[in-house]
This record gives sequence, C-alpha cells and structure tokens, in this order.
Amino acid sequence: MKTLVYIETKNNKPFNGCLELIHEAMDLGEGTAVLIGNDCEDSAKEVSRYGIPVLVLDTEAVCQDTVLAALVSAAADTQSELILMSATQTGKDLAPRLAARLDTGCITDVVGIRKDGESLIFTRPAYGGAVLEDMQFAEGKKAVATVRGGSFTKAEAAQAGDITVKSIEIPADAVKAKLIDTAVEITELVNLEGAEVIVAGGRGCGDAQTFGLVEELAKLLGGVVGASRPAIEEGWVSRAHQIGQSGKIVSPKLYIACGISGAMQHVSGMIGSDYIVAINKDEDAPIFDTADISIVGRCEEILPLMIEEIRARKA
Ligand SMILES: Cc1cc2nc3c(=O)[nH]c(=O)nc-3n(C[C@H](O)[C@H](O)[C@H](O)COP(=O)(O)OP(=O)(O)OC[C@H]3O[C@@H](n4cnc5c(N)ncnc54)[C@H](O)[C@@H]3O)c2cc1C
Repeated sequence: MKTLVYIETKNNKPFNGCLELIHEAMDLGEGTAVLIGNDCEDSAKEVSRYGIPVLVLDTEAVCQDTVLAALVSAAADTQSELILMSATQTGKDLAPRLAARLDTGCITDVVGIRKDGESLIFTRPAYGGAVLEDMQFAEGKKAVATVRGGSFTKAEAAQAGDITVKSIEIPADAVKAKLIDTAVEITELVNLEGAEVIVAGGRGCGDAQTFGLVEELAKLLGGVVGASRPAIEEGWVSRAHQIGQSGKIVSPKLYIACGISGAMQHVSGMIGSDYIVAINKDEDAPIFDTADISIVGRCEEILPLMIEEIRARKA
C-alpha cells in the first residue's frame, strides 16, 4: 500500500507526532513523507534519516488552504492510497477537508492500525474512551486518517531516504482564510509527548508538598512532570500536565507513577511507555498490573529515598 505522511513543521523542526507515523507507513508498504513550505530544508533532512523518501513541496505563503491544495497534489503525484496525519489542531482541520477533496471518508483520532487480509482496520476510542471501535474504509477508496500522538513508536534511524524538492504554484483563489497571528499557549511549553522520562503524581501524593517531590524527581532525571486528573483538580499542577484519556497520550522510555491507582482512563494515556515504575501504598493497586517495577510504599517515604540515592549517584 502506498501511504503519504504529512509532516508538520514549526521553526524548521518536524513535529514528533508526525515522525511517529513514518514507521507505520513503511510497515504498510511504500511510504512517502511530504513537507510543505519554503523553509523545510533541515526538517526534510531529519525526516529522511528514518529511511523514508521525502517530497518537499516548495510554496510561498503557507496557510491551511495552501497546505490543503499541496496535499491534494502530493496524493495524486505519489498515487497514495492512504494519507496519514497527526491529530494536531492542523491535522484535525485538514483531514476532513482533504477527504472531501479526494471524495473519500476520514477516520479521526486513530490509536492503532492493523491489516486484515487486504483491508486495513483502524482502531479509535469512542464514548469518551470507554470502548475502542474498529473502522474500515469502503473498498477501492483513498483513505485519510488522523492519528493520536503517542500511538506509534518512532522509527529507528536508517539509511537516509531520497529528498525531492518540487516547486508548486497554488492559485491565489485557493486561499480562503489566512492565519494572521499565533499566540504561544503555556500548555505548549509542557512537552509531555516528546519526553523520554515522565514522573507523574496522583491523588495518593496527598498534598502539594509531596507532589513537590514528584517535581523534584522529574527535574533530577531531566524529565517532565505528569499528573492524573485528581492531582490537577487538587490544584497541585496545571491541566497541561494531565495524562490519560482526556489529557495527553505519552510514550516515554521511563514512566514513574506515584500514588496513581491505575484507572483505565489514566493507563490508556501511558500504556505505551517503555518501562513503568509504580509507587503505591496498596499492594493490590491496578497500576501494578502494568508496571515493570512495583514499589509498595508511601510516596512521602519512597520519593525522598529515590531522590537521595539518585543525587548520591550523580555526585
Ligand atoms: C470521561 C473521563 C475521562 C477521564 N480522563 C482522565 C484522564 O485523562 N486522566 C486521568 O488521570 N484520569 C482521568 N479520569 C479519572 C479516572 O477515572 C480516575 O478517577 C483517575 O485516574 C484516578 O486518579 P488517581 O489514580 O490519582 O486517584 P485514585 O484513583 O484516588 O488513586 C489514588 C491511589 O493512590 C494510592 N495512595 C494513597 N495514598 C498513598 C500514599 N501516601 N503513597 C502512595 N500511594 C498512595 C491509593 O492506594 C490509590 O491507588 C477520567 C474519568 C472520566 C469519567
């Protein structure tokens, strides 16, 4: 199957969520990554490192409408049957519009793709994540899908793929709306999706002081602070740190869960972590079912010991 992966960039850097789609595209058959704009040189090189051929569509005045027109052209050029994008704000905006242009359907918020004979089955959460539903496109149609960040692991670096740069002219009347300004939200500064280490605290931390130990451990390990929903509702940390069904989906190398019970709505956001350490005072806590290392104890006692030991080893 020929798959086109749209790679969004910002400040000449590709989005992590888009890089996660490369491995999946190559696994499905023939993949091409497409970047759109006139300052994509560094991003294109970085993307090609994952062994996928890269198509750069060089165009001025990039906005949603020019990207849409360029994607229609890239889908035709590469004869792609499947177009994947990350479920970012831009991806969510573009995917249904692209599907309409290609006269096909669109599946959003995908968390898994698998082959079933000649067909592809797309899995996505429904009813607030209470169930997972499987969907498939009508036979013979092109397919457009957005994928939740953290659903797939990034490809390993490989022999660099070819980079083809093509200039395209987008007719002026293709642009119906222009982006005038962007304000950086504080939430964008919490890069949980790209973090290699996450130390997350839950209700079991008990108070802001113990949650402070979670923050201290995260800092010591060069990681990012995560939280369950109750920790946010307690006001110990901002909503930007929430992990789970209604928060961020993460897949760090190391996830340390402190005083988190392991409710499905939290676990669905961190189950993709490579290595999970859980601290909980209850030896029957469900979080231990997903943990690689289970520490039965109180956060306020265990965390200071961990911090002290790591400090000593770093000294
Ligand atoms: C539609 C919907 C969406 C949701 N989305 C999310 C989401 O995105 N993210 C999310 O996290 N939740 C979400 N929730 C809430 C979710 O169902 C759970 O209520 C929540 O994850 C529980 O958080 P917790 O583990 O911190 O708290 P609890 O379930 O109360 O668990 C606290 C744990 O801490 C342990 N503990 C207590 N004291 C200590 C101590 N001193 N030391 C060590 N351990 C201790 C306890 O044994 C317990 O296991 C959602 C719920 C709904 C209905």
